Amino acid sequence: MGRRTYKICTRCVMDTSDTQIKFDSKGVCNHCKEYDLVANGKKYSTKNKTVAKNEIISQIKKDGEGSEYDCIIGLSGGVDSSYLCYIAVKEFGLKPLIVHLDNGWNSKLATKNIQKIVRNLELDLYTHVIDWEEFKSLQLAFLKASVIDIELLTDYSINAITYKVAKEHNVQYILTGNNLATEKILPKSWTFNKDDLKNIISINKRFGSHEIKTFPTIARESYKEYKKQIKSFPMLNYIDYDKDEAKRIIINELRWEDYGGKHYESIFTRFYQGYILPQKFNVDKRRAHYSTEICSGLMTREKAIEKLKLPVYDEQLMKDDYEYVIKKLDLTKEEFEAIMKSPVKSHFDYDTTLESKLRKKLISPTNPLLKLYKKLF
Ligand SMILES: [Zn+2]
Repeated sequence: MGRRTYKICTRCVMDTSDTQIKFDSKGVCNHCKEYDLVANGKKYSTKNKTVAKNEIISQIKKDGEGSEYDCIIGLSGGVDSSYLCYIAVKEFGLKPLIVHLDNGWNSKLATKNIQKIVRNLELDLYTHVIDWEEFKSLQLAFLKASVIDIELLTDYSINAITYKVAKEHNVQYILTGNNLATEKILPKSWTFNKDDLKNIISINKRFGSHEIKTFPTIARESYKEYKKQIKSFPMLNYIDYDKDEAKRIIINELRWEDYGGKHYESIFTRFYQGYILPQKFNVDKRRAHYSTEICSGLMTREKAIEKLKLPVYDEQLMKDDYEYVIKKLDLTKEEFEAIMKSPVKSHFDYDTTLESKLRKKLISPTNPLLKLYKKLF
């Protein structure tokens, strides 16, 4: 693939930094179209989503009657998952068991926020701690592999541990804070298939120094079984999710404290999004976040363009994080810089599942083969 000339969408701010972006004759990108198709489609119309929400809630209550917990919520301490805990208890009247994954990168504030949420809502918290030496080895392996989605490690393990805990407690429902309103747009070229354990194992074998032991994994066949028995619902899509309002509520009601940036509850995520992605992969994730907000009517395109001119994150904070991250990963500055300068590789340069290969081909949600694919996986 040769370098394409620079182009930016005429409606949102997605551009050719997404190497797979497509534009129509009016210069509108595929992300805008996909947004309209999903977010403004029938499924999430005001009437339909309210009906669906009520059905989901009464089903969860019915199936969880007499049990200690009726659903599982993965809590990172960020706005989305914190607010989800709040409405699950206060509005839906559910009995969630809260699951948290500790990968060693929580900011102090995140830990504090998680404690406040479970205390104020009187919830039980299950924390899975991944052995730090093991997680460090995995992250270093991904850095050395030069692949883009280092966060695949965290995202896969959160998913795996919530399913495992649900299974252990015989709970049939997982509620997630994933939502269309603030994070629908995310190019496939910027992430990888979050279910691909094969890719993780392959990269760890090649570059890692530790065996996978405490990192939560589910064998592929069992995962398929789990997914048949346990339903997962992105509940924030079934309400009119207003992030600013959600923030106000959790600040007032749960004494939650703001981090000052999306996904800043984790120091690694902050550094990954603010430094590694822009510097090494030419990816500014704010572009996707702002584009989602433009499509959902929360931000104007002019405002987004203005905001993109500002630095990705505070310069002093970036310097502090830089020192902190390389020290924690036991890298010298030279070693880290060599990683930053090494040529970018694809996740497909390592072993992947067939599912990942198919996903790559079926990039458009309008592709009729997608239905068949969803059935298969
Ligand atoms: Zn667009």
